[in-house]
Amino acid sequence: MEVRLENVEKRFGSEFAVKNINLYIENGDMAVLLGPSGCGKTTTLMMLAGVYRPTNGVIKFGDQVVNHLPPQERKIGMVFQNYALYPHLTVFDNIAFPLTNKKMSRSEIKKRVHEAAEIVQIEKLLKRKPAELSGGQQQRVSLARALVKEPELLLLDEPLSNLDASLRMQMRSEIRRIQKELGFTAVLVTHDQTEAMTMADKIAVMKDGVLMAYGRPMDLYNKPDHRFVAEFLGSPPINHIPVMLRQGKLLTQWSGEAIGLIGYPLHDDRSFTLSVRPEHLTLTPDLNGDHHFVANATVIEALGYEYIYTLTYGPHTLRVRSHENVPVNEGQKVGVRIEWEHVLYFDEEGRRIDFDMIESAAGE
Ligand code: ATP
Repeated sequence: MEVRLENVEKRFGSEFAVKNINLYIENGDMAVLLGPSGCGKTTTLMMLAGVYRPTNGVIKFGDQVVNHLPPQERKIGMVFQNYALYPHLTVFDNIAFPLTNKKMSRSEIKKRVHEAAEIVQIEKLLKRKPAELSGGQQQRVSLARALVKEPELLLLDEPLSNLDASLRMQMRSEIRRIQKELGFTAVLVTHDQTEAMTMADKIAVMKDGVLMAYGRPMDLYNKPDHRFVAEFLGSPPINHIPVMLRQGKLLTQWSGEAIGLIGYPLHDDRSFTLSVRPEHLTLTPDLNGDHHFVANATVIEALGYEYIYTLTYGPHTLRVRSHENVPVNEGQKVGVRIEWEHVLYFDEEGRRIDFDMIESAAGE
């Protein structure tokens, strides 16, 4: 089922929790609402659920406007962070619960519960009570309970945040597998960028009730239009170096040291931020070798599959990710190379500057 939000807003008292959101979710896609605490993710999800009514705008499921439909008439399933299972009911009865109000035959209920339990792989636990289950198993039960209604839209509110790291990783791919297998549309709320990057067909990045970006994970990662989006995706986060352009040369704002040529014949002197991800900086211990600037190595973290180097460069902290163990010690100076083809530039308002566009506009 396609889902559309058209100019949707939600106000609580005099405060807008969600401001003028436009979102189109394709049939069978998983859209992830990502952003810091209080940015309006849950409010948006609750409007899709029918728990909150939008103050302005239209929500459509397919061609149908659903603004006024209560949750039970929306063909949705919901999964919450706290599982919300009934402690006195068995796993079977918890999963069956949404169907018992529907006057369905006992044999049909049994069939559906077994199917849902099989999908989430808890067939052997149907006789247990929630207290006899691990957190991961409880979340599977809550997922089965949402699936048993055969929803056209599954809404997931931080479903994995109570699980430990390895279980979270397992459930991420599990939910993704189930969603693709059954083909329903899903909207997931999270503040965890890894969860968003790995689970989403499209990510909606929100800030202060505003939709900052909506797109495929790798498009937003590689070419975000806004500095906030660049910072929110990626761990360790993207590095920022404030620079000024003087006759085509890039100089650091704090020392005036040259760090490279921008390669565009720009005579328009301006200040902005050079932003580069940790994996697009490389280190060279030979200070006489080929590098763009010299920084101080302050912390070196060996993670087994990669190394993270924390550097100070003037007043700034930078992070470099490397698969090689560069022979440099903490406290030592190190040369840093920039992979220019991956560099992004942001103006003082945080908007991406596209130098290709400027150059071609200047050439017209
Ligand atoms: P979190 O990740 O912390 O759950 P969120 O992005 O889901 O945050 P929302 O819960 O949607 O954020 O809240 C958005 C804003 O709306 C916040 O400023 C919050 O205080 C406010 N808000 C949410 N629900 C209500 C409510 N029922 N009444 C008044 N204000 C509310």
